[in-house]
Amino acid sequence: MQQFDVLIIGSGLAGLSLALRTADNKKVCLVSKRAINDTASDWAQGGIAAVLNDDDSVEAHIQDTLIAGAGLCDAAVTKLVAEQGKQAVEWLIEQGVGFTREQDNSGYHLTREGGHSHRRIIHAADATGHAVQITLSDKVRQHPNITVLENHIAVDLITTRKVTHTKVEATDDNACLGAYILDKSTGKVITIAAQNTILATGGAGKVYLYTTNPDVSTGDGIAMAWRAGCRVANMEFIQFHPTCLFHPHAKSFLISEVVRGEGGLLKLPDGSRFMPEHDPREELAPRDVVARAIDYEM
Ligand SMILES: Cc1cc2nc3c(=O)[nH]c(=O)nc-3n(C[C@H](O)[C@H](O)[C@H](O)COP(=O)(O)OP(=O)(O)OC[C@H]3O[C@@H](n4cnc5c(N)ncnc54)[C@H](O)[C@@H]3O)c2cc1C
Repeated sequence: MQQFDVLIIGSGLAGLSLALRTADNKKVCLVSKRAINDTASDWAQGGIAAVLNDDDSVEAHIQDTLIAGAGLCDAAVTKLVAEQGKQAVEWLIEQGVGFTREQDNSGYHLTREGGHSHRRIIHAADATGHAVQITLSDKVRQHPNITVLENHIAVDLITTRKVTHTKVEATDDNACLGAYILDKSTGKVITIAAQNTILATGGAGKVYLYTTNPDVSTGDGIAMAWRAGCRVANMEFIQFHPTCLFHPHAKSFLISEVVRGEGGLLKLPDGSRFMPEHDPREELAPRDVVARAIDYEM
């Protein structure tokens, strides 16, 4: 058995940033079921929305988000995320992420995406996620307090409820003690004990046949949490993109949201536009509106 202060399952932006923010005072183990950079985070293209410009305001970002959320947003979470966006982006810049600057070097270049009333998307060319992922994963690899286990699949959480037949003292009704992890190179399951276990296993987009998500997005963390007795909510919110390339013999991939933000138009096979008939915001309507319009036309 290996013992750590913190066990983080998942090596995307969530897992990497938590590891870096924790490891100065704690012994951290970061587990990833494939290579460290095989994540949805690495695939993100367009960029990160945050209020970074004096013409923009947190209030406008909150309003845009509430409108795009069609009445389903948690208002407190929306406010928290909009308020802390700038600080989070500044932290990424401090870590060394090379976001694209204006040509005259006057500041960072911001693009626009559907649903946003202002230019507020900071980006690293059209491969923002990759820039963030490799910057943070390099720092994680170099950190003396972080042990990285690649090609290790978390199989299940170990909880006091599951091990009450052993000598483990339950301090809580049902506390998490770590996880069972399959080492793919040996085929053996190892036990990692930790005071804190964090599921940063990303989404579950691969439950759909067609998705822009990577193969790792299979909802493992949600399933493990459910088996451990956690409450699972909001499962209807699956990340999807209205526009992706379809080819009968190739995997679909995302046509970036930024294409519409920068003036890209959606057209029918006869070359005519259809978004103006569906929404006054046309191609810049939020994703759900654009997706429904495409579905209707198809
Ligand atoms: C094509 C695409 C484009 C996108 N563009 C944008 C964008 O422009 N802007 C934006 O804000 N967002 C974008 N997103 C969304 C964004 O990428 C995700 O919301 C974000 O990366 C999620 O980060 P994460 O760390 O939670 O998950 P991920 O980055 O998916 O990381 C999950 C990690 O968990 C690991 N894992 C899963 N199960 C296990 C297991 N059982 N054992 C061990 N490890 C496990 C995976 O291997 C992976 O390392 C995009 C997503 C995609 C797919």
